[in-house]
Amino acid sequence: MKGLVDGRTALVTGAARGIGLAVARLLAEHGARVVLADLDAGAAAAAAAGLAAAGAEASGVGCDVTAEADVTGAVRHAVDRHGGLDIMVNNAGITRDATIGKMSPADFDAVVDVHLKGAWLGVRAAAEVMRPAGAGSIVNISSLSGKSGNFGQTNYSAAKAGVIGLTKAAAKELAPRGIRVNAVQPGLIRTAMTAAMPPDVFAAREADIPMKRAGEPHEVAGAVLFLACDLSSYMTGAVLEVGGGRMM
Ligand code: NAD
Repeated sequence: MKGLVDGRTALVTGAARGIGLAVARLLAEHGARVVLADLDAGAAAAAAAGLAAAGAEASGVGCDVTAEADVTGAVRHAVDRHGGLDIMVNNAGITRDATIGKMSPADFDAVVDVHLKGAWLGVRAAAEVMRPAGAGSIVNISSLSGKSGNFGQTNYSAAKAGVIGLTKAAAKELAPRGIRVNAVQPGLIRTAMTAAMPPDVFAAREADIPMKRAGEPHEVAGAVLFLACDLSSYMTGAVLEVGGGRMM
């Protein structure tokens, strides 16, 4: 069977685990060559080796998405090692939760830097190499908290709302060049990020979801694959909610 992204090269940030790893795995299963970029270079290399052992063309690179040279370096790696860049997924993320009076300016900056500046650097570097090819798909991972606001996450919610503005502005700028830019807004997904939540808080948030459960990383990956491949060829500036109906 033909894969949905056969022969294309994809770069996924924050791909050593969680949603990023699930995205890299699904893109590889659908025929893409994948670059797994992560702050944790060793974990990225190990994750890439795991995908390669399953038959994919995959490599891992160390990359701090807040550092321009790292982001352009990861894009350059995709081009030099795998022949180009067709799909860019800006996924890397952190949390530094506290209510606003207790949140330090440093924790605000750290979260906004990774999510918003990191995605901006990713869009910018990817567009640079996609432009001459006249085609490409960029998917930014936002969050439903960017729409609803989460208690204790003024930094994260603001950054994730910013990712939507970035997505739409970049979509307008890059559409004439054949580059599509879309976003996914996951709800509560079972990863290391949410494993840090107190179990009673996690259970209360699950109870609020119409589908009555948290999502799994591969369920976010499905939406990313759709936006990355030609099934969504007439979509740009779009935002897909993957939240079990939470925003209804
Ligand atoms: P995770 O903590 O499991 O994985 C995040 C990955 O990003 C890690 O491998 C980490 O090393 C990497 N990373 C952190 N800072 C980085 C940096 N500066 N440069 C490069 N890599 C860095 O988290 P996850 O739950 O898989 O989240 C992935 C994305 O999905 C994030 O953007 C997150 O905000 C978003 N999201 C998650 C949920 C959820 O419920 N888990 C919900 C909505 C959105």
